[in-house]
Amino acid sequence: MVDLQSQYQKIKETIDTSIQEVLNSSAYINGPYVKDFQADLEKYLKVKHVIPCANGTDALQIAMMGLGLQPGDEVITVDFTFAATVEVIGLLNLTPVLIDVEPDSFNIDIEALKKAITPKTKAIVPVHLFGQVANMEAILEIASQHNLFVIEDNAQAIGANYTFKDGTKKKAGTIGNVGTTSFFPSKNLGCYGDGGAIFTNDDELAHTIRGIVNHGMYKRYYHDVVGVNSRLDSIQAAVLKTKLPLLDEYCNARRDAARYYNNAFANNEHIETPTSSSCGQICDSCDCHVFHQYTLQIKNGKRDELHQHLLDNGIANAIYYPVPLHQQKAYTNERYNEDDFKVTNTLINTVISLPMHTELDEEQLAFITKTVNDFLK
Ligand SMILES: *Cc1c(COP(=O)(O)O)cnc(C)c1O
Repeated sequence: MVDLQSQYQKIKETIDTSIQEVLNSSAYINGPYVKDFQADLEKYLKVKHVIPCANGTDALQIAMMGLGLQPGDEVITVDFTFAATVEVIGLLNLTPVLIDVEPDSFNIDIEALKKAITPKTKAIVPVHLFGQVANMEAILEIASQHNLFVIEDNAQAIGANYTFKDGTKKKAGTIGNVGTTSFFPSKNLGCYGDGGAIFTNDDELAHTIRGIVNHGMYKRYYHDVVGVNSRLDSIQAAVLKTKLPLLDEYCNARRDAARYYNNAFANNEHIETPTSSSCGQICDSCDCHVFHQYTLQIKNGKRDELHQHLLDNGIANAIYYPVPLHQQKAYTNERYNEDDFKVTNTLINTVISLPMHTELDEEQLAFITKTVNDFLK
């Protein structure tokens, strides 16, 4: 699905030098690379505060702790996402409220969101799934009407832009009260281990979060709140500092591959390619999508056969996600009604993600698209 080796070979020299520098410095934790990368990322995202942490799951948990959410508070998020999003809600004894997604963007359904709000609702967690920014303008409006926090799970869409109706653009993850991301190797900005970060423009929240990531310490050995130990290590920061200047190039390479796929599948009636719902543009020409995944919907019931056929032909592919969260043993709840999850219940049977990364060449794309089109005639 990804080709991290070829990407590394192109930047090997700079990466190896910066890792060697960390080894020579022995500042393995909180070394200069961590602060430098933090500053570079703040500048890139045009956000006041980036707080690095150990991974994207921690980032979500720490954001929720920083906002002071309390057991019993309801947090609304989507049924169709990676489990980390709902996992941390459960870990903090908050009440997850899962809702359906839109059929075209796979992102949070605004009507379902309105219906899910109760007096106990405290926060909304939109996930910018597969690299496409959710309908933030509508989400912010609902949040302000009901006085709710917005926590953007931006693990899959770093580098994406969101354009408001008045033409203003903001980077994904910097639009709500707080945003989180993951630097897991296969993410769009990946390191060579685990890593994550939290973004906010709120000075007070940033201060609170800086303490939480460091055992609740604001002054050494004085623990004002219960915190966690969640750090980005210096070696990962060195990798990320080297890769950040390439992020826009990486996003464009992914969009180019998406454009190739979209064109190749345009006339196949059994395939629905990714189209944009919130901005009205075709996804491959719009900067609100950075294609963490390239995900098709197969309309003729042959998704599973296609999955096997591609594997038989040596083509990687994956089903993200095969089981909706509301049906997972850990997260199911009798208050859920299957009728409220019509879209996710369909998507689990129709979606298939094709190889998507920064190193796809035309020969590979031609082989993949021909194999798919020949099978789904
Ligand atoms: C990857 C991912 C996470 C978790 O990130 P980790 O760094 O693996 O902990 C959270 N949410 C979403 C949507 C993700 O894709």
